[in-house]
Amino acid sequence: MSDCIFCAIANHEIPSEIVYEDDKICVYKDLAPQAPVHVLMIPKKHIANLDDVTADDQELLGYMLLKVQDIAKLMGIENGYRVVSNNGDDAEQTVKHMHLHILGKRKFTWPPG
Ligand code: 5GP
Ligand code: ZN
Repeated sequence: MSDCIFCAIANHEIPSEIVYEDDKICVYKDLAPQAPVHVLMIPKKHIANLDDVTADDQELLGYMLLKVQDIAKLMGIENGYRVVSNNGDDAEQTVKHMHLHILGKRKFTWPPG
């Protein structure tokens, strides 16, 4: 069993509501949703956060961002969505495996708190 909860989810070692996966990424419903649609997209490769990415991850990061529109469609989002990545303590990153929050089906305000 992996020490990292998101690696454990990607390895199917602990259950989660996976909505999409392939060889590079896994997308699943957030345990504490902040919007009617709230999913997390993670790379299957363990990367703690954006401070830890390197040039080797360039293709993977591009792949993730390009997949966001497919996930939004898959989740039935039709009128915009928010993509968030919390990095480090000031951003209150709680799980140290890089992830994109994809939130939709409600109105969001800006700037965030
Ligand atoms: P962060 O605060 O690190 O940006 O976000 C971590 C997110 O992971 C939170 O929104 C939290 O609800 C979610 N989360 C934490 N543990 C689990 C889990 O075991 N399963 C799922 N599906 N989501 C989790
Ligand atoms: Zn991990």
